[in-house]
Amino acid sequence: MRPGAHYIRDNVECNDAKCPIHGSVKTHGYSIEGVVVSDKLRTTVIVEHGYTSYLQKYQRSLRKNSRIAAHNPQCIGARLGDHVLIQGTRRLSKTKSFVVTKLLGMKEKPQAKKAEEKQEKAKAKESQ
Ligand SMILES: [Zn+2]
Repeated sequence: MRPGAHYIRDNVECNDAKCPIHGSVKTHGYSIEGVVVSDKLRTTVIVEHGYTSYLQKYQRSLRKNSRIAAHNPQCIGARLGDHVLIQGTRRLSKTKSFVVTKLLGMKEKPQAKKAEEKQEKAKAKESQ
């Protein structure tokens, strides 16, 4: 887990108008826990969350995933792999109607893992 991941970072100046704490956006509706699967966009993260739905015809439950685009305020700064809480807001853009309100922790570190794999591969090449 990243240090201070439970809190909003106070030392970061937040000029974000779409921030639920410093801006003018109000949250409502339900909140969803999920994992950030993409942080490539400048102010948006893609959050994936799994859920089960029951299929009446076969009397089985299915596992499904849903991907939601959520606004990522400056003061929260969620990154790839972070476990986050998102909450409904007014429509912020064409695809966004959610905002990240809390960092719940770092689930895994994909970038660190990749770096380790690269090092291992380099070592393997050297030994050949
Ligand atoms: Zn803020």
